[in-house]
Amino acid sequence: MGLDGKTALVTGASRGIGRAIAKALAARGAAVIVNYNGSKEAASEVVSEIEAAGGNAISLGCSVADQEAVESMMKEIISKYKRLDILVNNAGITRDNLILKMKEEDFDAVLNTNLKGVFHTCRYAARQMLKQKAGCIVNISSISGVMGNAGQTNYAASKAGVIGFTKSLARELASREIRVNAVAPGFVETEMTEKLPESAVEAGKRQIPFGRFGKAEEVAKAVCFLASEDASYITGQVLHVDGGMGM
Ligand code: NAP
Repeated sequence: MGLDGKTALVTGASRGIGRAIAKALAARGAAVIVNYNGSKEAASEVVSEIEAAGGNAISLGCSVADQEAVESMMKEIISKYKRLDILVNNAGITRDNLILKMKEEDFDAVLNTNLKGVFHTCRYAARQMLKQKAGCIVNISSISGVMGNAGQTNYAASKAGVIGFTKSLARELASREIRVNAVAPGFVETEMTEKLPESAVEAGKRQIPFGRFGKAEEVAKAVCFLASEDASYITGQVLHVDGGMGM
């Protein structure tokens, strides 16, 4: 699964799953762009960790929800590296609430980051990858987008949207063998799930055949596989990394 000479952008890579993905791609030889929104220091730490391990990385801040900011980040990447081989759309947020209490601004914020953000990066990346006649995209969806989850109408809609988006873009880019896949993690130990009340954690674990939450590194390995030549005949797929929860 060597990725020597490849350039990879990972959105939302300052912590959690994105951080693990950035480090795993770099460990396999890719030059990694560590994107973040507000956590500049944390992103710099990820870069330092990658460099300390002998890898190559830079950090670039921008909200994926902001189309103009994404475009200027993409321009900066292409001007520095001349290409983009791997795009991992990982940036995501939650604003959980039951539908009767769900505020419109919370619905919009989640859709704008989790789904529209994917549109913003893919639109630019697809143009570049078509020019290169090579590249691959991995979008991070969620078990919530597959099974639904009470209190997450906004989040589940965004993540189900990511799956439909992924399959459609895979069909659009397949003639050039540019692959587009999704990874649907179940419950993974990160700051996102740290926010869950203990009762929800216990209820969650009861639904997981493995009986435990996943680790960010376990998701990262699946992303590295899909981003590598080992997955050369795989496109439009949703790989579940969920301890059996969604089977
Ligand atoms: P996390 O720990 O909350 O980290 C989220 C990351 O996204 C941070 O690096 C954050 O950067 C970044 N981010 C947020 N809004 C952004 C924006 N507008 N533009 C750019 N970056 C932004 O989350 P996580 O648990 O690692 O989740 C990563 C992905 O996996 C998300 O898409 C999530 O929906 C998905 N997922 C997670 C789980 C889970 O159980 N943890 C399960 C299924 C799917 P800043 O700190 O700089 O804002």
